[in-house]
Amino acid sequence: MRAFVANDRVYRVPERAVLAICADGWDPDYVDDALERRLMPRLAESLDIGGIYAMAQAQVPTFTNPNNVAIVTGVSAARNGVAGNQYRDDAGVEVQVTDPRFLRAETIHAAAQAAGVPALCVTAKDKLRRLLAYGGVPSFSAERAHEQQLPDGRVLTDLVGAPNPGIYEWELSPYTVDLALALARELGSRLIYASLTDFVQHKVAPGQELSDRFYRAMDRRIGAALDAGYVVGLAADHGMRAKTLPDGRPNVRYLDDALLAAGVASAQTILPITDPYVVHHAALGSLAWVYLDDRAERDVARDALAALHGVEAVLDGDVAADTYELPADRIGDLVVLADGDTVLGKSAAEHDLSAVGTTLRSHGGLHERAVPLIVCAPLRDCAPPADLRNRDLHDLLLNHTT
Ligand SMILES: [Zn+2]
Repeated sequence: MRAFVANDRVYRVPERAVLAICADGWDPDYVDDALERRLMPRLAESLDIGGIYAMAQAQVPTFTNPNNVAIVTGVSAARNGVAGNQYRDDAGVEVQVTDPRFLRAETIHAAAQAAGVPALCVTAKDKLRRLLAYGGVPSFSAERAHEQQLPDGRVLTDLVGAPNPGIYEWELSPYTVDLALALARELGSRLIYASLTDFVQHKVAPGQELSDRFYRAMDRRIGAALDAGYVVGLAADHGMRAKTLPDGRPNVRYLDDALLAAGVASAQTILPITDPYVVHHAALGSLAWVYLDDRAERDVARDALAALHGVEAVLDGDVAADTYELPADRIGDLVVLADGDTVLGKSAAEHDLSAVGTTLRSHGGLHERAVPLIVCAPLRDCAPPADLRNRDLHDLLLNHTT
């Protein structure tokens, strides 16, 4: 058996090409609904013949970058170093986590490539492209496909034979799979990672027309990959829940406003959901870091935050790091967790809610932690291991399929 090692985990070199999909924001409610209403016949068929659809735990915070990185490294944020889409550096500046220098662990794709297995990463959102390119793995984005070329000069959109949809269009995720399959054909890739976008899940609930259209289209892509001979698997990075009041307004608690009112002067709230694509969620998620430059204010700050309706826990950073496998130096002095129906913001003045309207759906806390992990092929050892994480996707695809 040929194998390679990434971060102390052993992976078999696959006999068939493997397509691992990060199904961004695929709360289990969407998948359950799509299967119940027979919107995904190809997925259903693959489950009928021995594939698995299991529940796995996502990395907390349940945001996109930490979970993509957990899935591509196969290890926790404590080990790989990525705990948010954004973090606060030593100078107090908020930094987007897009550069591979933030990675403290190698990717499975880089290790595969080094072992002679051609790897490929394709992401819907360009913000992940450089992280995925760690170790020289060919990495492309659907968002920027019109600007990216193959070595022979062909533009990526020509490979797909269609222009790339915009970042706020529902077709971008299916296009990402089309692009991944087209590139893999050209490049001879054997281990392919495709990361989608959760625009649809932020906008609509399961069963709405746009959601139905999306899941039917994704099922056709799963079918196309299966027909092309791939072993296909999907894991969601996080779930998704409505975060609105009965009248439709966003159900937000503004932490900097609450801290100021309590007399805390040294606090800085960091929202690790923040990324360049905030129109659909206004940078509001269900977990926040609070940094306190004056440690003496910690108790007052903790009490003020814990007293907010909709805040279910305020943890000291070291406790949160132990509990949720986080890198202690890249999270706040306090970690604030909202309940399932509430999101956290900085101050009322800093968030533009105009584009959110009455449909705020978001993620980030403990209530978006249970996610689907799907393998569209029979498992050798029948049942998936207990205590499954979404970061086990590549282990299942490479080590446990027939
Ligand atoms: Zn996401």
